[in-house]
Amino acid sequence: MKVTVDNTKCDGHEKCVQAAPKVFKMNERFIAEVADPNGDSQEKIVFAARICPTKAITVEDDDGNTLFPES
Ligand code: SF4
Repeated sequence: MKVTVDNTKCDGHEKCVQAAPKVFKMNERFIAEVADPNGDSQEKIVFAARICPTKAITVEDDDGNTLFPES
């Protein structure tokens, strides 16, 4: 899995951390970072991306297919 957080969009609501706590963590500036892109199931990670209020999270599988945002 390739998971990225656009730190210019993240507003620190921490919803991603609540949804997938092994994948996301908050840094000292209260911006989400990826701790382990394979730390939770694909379903949980895509769910976390989906509920991010600012759509700051992008998820790709190992083949480079974009899982979120959905086209
Ligand atoms: S849910 Fe989105 S806005 Fe909130 S901390 Fe995570 S990446 Fe940032």
